[in-house]
Amino acid sequence: MEILTQQTEELIEEVLYLQKSSLLRLRNSTATERILKLKSIETYMFDHKQELFDALYADFKKPSSEVILAEMLGVKREIAHAKSNLASWMKPQKVGTPLLLLGTQGHVLFEPKGMCLIIAPWNYPFNLAINPLIHAISAGNAVILKPSELSPNTSAYIKKMITHLFDKSEVAVFEGDASVSTYLLDQRFDHIFFTGSPAIGKIVMRAASKYLTSVTLELGGKSPAIVGPEVDLMSSVQKMAWGKFLNNGQTCIAPDYVFVHEKVAFSFMEAMETTVQAFYNKENKGISASDDYARIVNERHFERIISLLEDAKFKGAKIVFGGDYNENDCFISPTLLSHCTPDMRIMQEEIFGPILPMMTYTSESEIIDYLKEEEKPLALYVFSTDDVFTEYILNNTSSGTSAVNDCLIQFGHTELPFGGVNHSGIGKSGGKYGFTEFSNQKSVLKQRTNLLKNFYPPYTFKSKWLIEQVLRWF
Ligand code: NAD
Repeated sequence: MEILTQQTEELIEEVLYLQKSSLLRLRNSTATERILKLKSIETYMFDHKQELFDALYADFKKPSSEVILAEMLGVKREIAHAKSNLASWMKPQKVGTPLLLLGTQGHVLFEPKGMCLIIAPWNYPFNLAINPLIHAISAGNAVILKPSELSPNTSAYIKKMITHLFDKSEVAVFEGDASVSTYLLDQRFDHIFFTGSPAIGKIVMRAASKYLTSVTLELGGKSPAIVGPEVDLMSSVQKMAWGKFLNNGQTCIAPDYVFVHEKVAFSFMEAMETTVQAFYNKENKGISASDDYARIVNERHFERIISLLEDAKFKGAKIVFGGDYNENDCFISPTLLSHCTPDMRIMQEEIFGPILPMMTYTSESEIIDYLKEEEKPLALYVFSTDDVFTEYILNNTSSGTSAVNDCLIQFGHTELPFGGVNHSGIGKSGGKYGFTEFSNQKSVLKQRTNLLKNFYPPYTFKSKWLIEQVLRWF
């Protein structure tokens, strides 16, 4: 961890002071003003597209097509969705009146939380920094954003973009490692939105408790994919291979491991190998030569994943295909492992790399029994053409998100809440859910009569009778 300079500390304090002074102005900003700010992000992103491609390639060889699909498209969609809906989200929401409070009128006001801190990870370093920023701006907040030090080129791009578009009294970026987050987390914020690992999520939550600051924790974990006995195998395998090996497996909602029904296990292994070859080795030059295959972000993560692989092999896992790696390039080939067992570290820790461990089953109750002992995952995927099987799995498991016969794409659905449950996260984001997360839902009750005065003391014979009737009638 770096040592924070006094200059950075002073800069952070200056920004906090300036942002505090701009809260009232931001709070009273209109939907049109907020949308203009969102549009400026979109315009900058398109005008500086090549710079973004270069930054993400320099960080971990992310192919430009994956930058478009998994970084830019999500940002564009969130902005478009906010543009169409923000005015209605911001409107006070009228509610019905319970009979007991007849004569009153209630509504919910969405007021900005105020000073917000966003801490972002490195794996989708642009999207996962900017999407929460879109929600925070939509809700009328001031923001300090801390991108990840492990994707320094994208972090520098974000810093340049934000400095160009925003006054630091509204949005400011502080780059750096845990020393910067630690200092920021010691300050008073009204909301903290953290995306990263469960281990650091716990540190964030502990720090937030100092001022009882609300938190959104978008965390990770082991997301299972379940392949049923009745399944459209080729299509399912293609979707799973895409979801697993995109971004080199460094996706929080990638299928971490797979349960495959005994009946289709052999065909599954064959189809997965064929698909991987078709995706990344069509010209037979080797997968490491493919421009479409990213790399592990750094040596530390490379070593971590290889140690999971070696532990699994040592404990009896078999390599169906893959298993090749090259330390000099942080390259690990797409790998499928069979004969995996729960005692292997690869079945206990989030893999966050291009290795797919497989376990087989004969009865769906085995899956339920296994999952009820595990932390609740961020995502759970079911691949099946049998609705009874699918409903059985969905109704007997808990996860933050789920998808049937696909994976990953639930993240892009602006009408669905995105987030984990317990160990995989707290709070939701995406579309209106993101706006709400950065808003305080203030209840307002307006009294227009004084019907309740009959219940005020002194409690006479008559009022006591009335009060007793209240219990009977309402
Ligand atoms: P991380 O937890 O190591 O780091 C995330 C952020 O926290 C970075 O900005 C980092 O600088 C900061 N940080 C690191 N140490 C800190 C400390 N001691 N105190 C305060 N802040 C600290 O996570 P990562 O490696 O960047 O990302 C990978 C993890 O994030 C995986 O677990 C993945 O599943 C999860 N993730 C979740 C989502 C989601 O939407 N739920 C999305 C992407 C990644």
